[in-house]
This record gives sequence, structure tokens and C-alpha cells, in this order.
Amino acid sequence: MKCETCGNDYDKAFEITLGDGTRHVFDCFACAIHALAPSCAHCGVKIIGHGVEAPGTFYCCAHCARHHGHDQLKDRVETGNDGRTPTAVFSH
Ligand SMILES: [Zn+2]
Ligand SMILES: [Zn+2]
Repeated sequence: MKCETCGNDYDKAFEITLGDGTRHVFDCFACAIHALAPSCAHCGVKIIGHGVEAPGTFYCCAHCARHHGHDQLKDRVETGNDGRTPTAVFSH
């Protein structure tokens, strides 16, 4: 199968099926991340873990989301944390 990011024809390529049924083929995770991972709307980094999601927009952390006025988004942190922890997950 051929990687749709770099075009490498690799026998161990793998397929990723998205939630909407769209199928993608990649030869490595780096290519998959490049093609599929959303970018933080504030700082532009690829979000490869749990990000923070506002309607139609992704952020790498609540800190970035707050820069765009999404004050209601919070990292999942223990009570009393100031929210500046670098590890961010979004609780639906
Ligand atoms: Zn590739
Ligand atoms: Zn960010």
C-alpha cells in the first residue's frame, strides 16, 4: 500500500479509518500525524495526544484556548492547580 503523505510504497503500510468512515493509508505514524493530526489554533503545534477542543477548533492546551477567549475550557487538573500544567486533556 502507498503512503498518501510521502508516496512510499511499503508492504507494512497501515490504514486508519476516521470516525466518519474515511480511510487513509500511511507507511509510518509520522506521516499519519502530518496528515491527520489537528494543529493548535493558537501556537500551531500538531496535537498528537489529547488536545482541548472548542467547537470547530483544536488547541494543544487550555492555555492556548484561553488566548482565543475560550475561558470555559480547562485542562483536566486537580482542584487548586493554576491551569498552567503542560499536560492537557479535554474532558467531554
Ligand atoms: Zn509516508
Ligand atoms: Zn497551543
